[in-house]
Amino acid sequence: MSLRWRLRGLQAKFIVLVGVTLLLMLATIALMLQRQGAMQDEVVGKSREAMHSLVFERLRQHGQAQSAQVAESLVNPLYYFDLDEIGVIARSLLRQPDVRYVLVYDTDGDIIHDGSGDIPTFGQAMRDPLAYEAVSANGVHAQWTERVLDVSSPVRVGDQRLGGVRIGYSLDAVRADETAASNALGESLGSIGTRHLWWVVVAMLGLVALGAMVSYALQRALVRPIRELADVAREIEAGNFSATVAPSARNDELGDLMRAFGRMSDSIARHDRDIRRMAYTDALTGLANRLAFRESLDQRLMQLRGQGRSLALLFADIDDFKRVNDTLGHDAGDEALVQFANRIASAVERYGTDDTLLARFGGDEFVILLQGGLLQGGSGADGNVRGLAEALAETLVAELARPIVVQGRQLFLGTSVGITLFPDDAAGATALMKNGDIAMYQAKVAGKNCHRFYSRAMDQAVERSVRMEQDLRGAWGRGELSLVYQPIYRLADGSLVGAEALLRWRHPEQGNIAPSVFIDVAEQSGLIETIGPQALRTACEDATRWHARSARGAGLFVSVNVSPRQLRSGELPNQVASVLRDTGLPPAQLHIELTETAVLGDEMHAGALLAKLRSTGVKVWLDDFGTGFSGLSHLRRVPADGVKIDRSFISDVLRDPDDLALTTAIIAMAHSLGITVVAEGVEKEGQYAILRERGCDLAQGYWIGHPVPADEFETLLV
Ligand code: C2E
Ligand code: MG
Ligand code: MG
Repeated sequence: MSLRWRLRGLQAKFIVLVGVTLLLMLATIALMLQRQGAMQDEVVGKSREAMHSLVFERLRQHGQAQSAQVAESLVNPLYYFDLDEIGVIARSLLRQPDVRYVLVYDTDGDIIHDGSGDIPTFGQAMRDPLAYEAVSANGVHAQWTERVLDVSSPVRVGDQRLGGVRIGYSLDAVRADETAASNALGESLGSIGTRHLWWVVVAMLGLVALGAMVSYALQRALVRPIRELADVAREIEAGNFSATVAPSARNDELGDLMRAFGRMSDSIARHDRDIRRMAYTDALTGLANRLAFRESLDQRLMQLRGQGRSLALLFADIDDFKRVNDTLGHDAGDEALVQFANRIASAVERYGTDDTLLARFGGDEFVILLQGGLLQGGSGADGNVRGLAEALAETLVAELARPIVVQGRQLFLGTSVGITLFPDDAAGATALMKNGDIAMYQAKVAGKNCHRFYSRAMDQAVERSVRMEQDLRGAWGRGELSLVYQPIYRLADGSLVGAEALLRWRHPEQGNIAPSVFIDVAEQSGLIETIGPQALRTACEDATRWHARSARGAGLFVSVNVSPRQLRSGELPNQVASVLRDTGLPPAQLHIELTETAVLGDEMHAGALLAKLRSTGVKVWLDDFGTGFSGLSHLRRVPADGVKIDRSFISDVLRDPDDLALTTAIIAMAHSLGITVVAEGVEKEGQYAILRERGCDLAQGYWIGHPVPADEFETLLV
């Protein structure tokens, strides 16, 4: 049952209560009236009885006195049997209004005279029911029937009885009087009752009115405010926290309740605002977060639709930010992010309008919403927002490329920005955000630290990478993947010491695909975890064959690249051990190449794994050394047998004195730690010479030897 109904119920209950009370009162009154009627009847009966006995007694006394008197006056006529005189007396009696009959009788009870002219009853015995008693009575005797009072009196002379006289008085008149009197009494009692009934009715109506008034007052004072509270509570329950109860000036408990309720709803609204603020802001930078951004984007798009206005979304992602966290810790990462946020905010201030929105999407991703003006004839104003977005993107890339100082260290980080435009690229928020992400990813692919506008072709690029992943699955089994070997030489004497195994993929339709492209896909999809071990096994098998083939090949090592994901899985030491066991390759002849990133992700874990590998005799090399953040000091902490100086340093070693200095420093540092140094990407004789001069141990590069298939590599060994 809903609250509304329960509240209705409160009032309904009260009305029912009032109704029941009224009904009970009505019943009581009906009973009272009934009792009153009965009492009235009783009173009338009793008074009639009293009246009857009073009147009757009078009549009897009168009758007795008259009959005694008549008996007295009849003595002489009876003695002399003077019928005329008796007749006179009888007739005079009969003339009295209520005398019905007069009977003069002899001692035997036979009628002598009845007051009539020719006395038809003369000499007849009196046979009526009252006769016997009348005749046998010794004195004045009264008896009666329903309609007649019969008074008899003997007529005597001395002791001698001469006869008697009976006078019958009619009781009809008495009865009529009685009836009239009791009717009058009944009537007056009835009118009194009616008067009282009216009063009762008026009192009842008063009570009903009182009940209605109380019900109305109850409704106003109790039910309505409670219902208001319930309505507001329901609103709040439905999420409308701004719903409030009207302030109450009442001084009673309900007033207290309403004020307390008002305070409670205020506090809920306040908490809701706080929670919203918390839910919609990024705690670290104080910028809007993904949720807030998404909501405002949806809102903006709804407003802009049909207005012919344009929007630009800029997705800025800091390049290789993970390395900051990995090398310097998360506090430093947070500090760097705050500095970036400030720089982005001030750049946005310069280019943005009032409608511009900046948000952090978590991690190192910042998103900016730029709103353009009205589209005048299509591309004109669209060009405006496009130009604005481009200028902002360029500023962002330039601003964020300036070094930042975190915990006393200078960090050089780049930013990749992806831009997508509304309504050109997509109409919906989800599609726009996906586009922005794709464009940003393409900026990364294009070499990072730059910006890219979204184009439909990018979708195809993403699709390509999805298709590539499908194609790569099972590529090894179909023989599309193979290894090539790039020879590695000792600089001191120019002798061949080993080779780096490099993966090649010949796609059935697209031909050769660069490892920089497909290794990424394999790494991201996890396919590397099956391809990696297969490459390792093949490389070891090939190396074992070289050893058997010639004296030149006997001491060669093979160097295998291992991806960060392979290292993280923790399976690597076991895989290496089982491959060495199966192929019989001496552990020292296997080198594992790891990038700094792989090692730096989790130094403890990686350190333990590397130590385990090295304990079996396998050598560990750090690949692409110098591109990371670790710096030279890092070498002390990571258990490695060698470093491979990255191509980018070698390529400039002749032109850039800084690169030469760094290369020289790496060599010196490594040697002081007993670590071998390999130079990658030696493309020129001059590079080779200078590296040799600086004491670099080993080198590989196109100038000395390109990566070649296994059988071709074997021709080098003879
Ligand atoms: P990396 O390990 O640094 O490999 C060296 C790369 O430099 C190879 O490119 C090689 O062909 C190239 N290179 C060698 N000498 C020169 C030179 O003089 N000039 C220039 N410009 N380049 C030279 P590649 O084969 O395209 O491999 C690229 C990257 O792919 C490798 O870089 C490595 O990180 C990855 N990779 C290759 N094979 C594997 C593999 O089997 N497993 C894993 N996890 N990664 C692999
Ligand atoms: Mg390598
Ligand atoms: Mg390398």
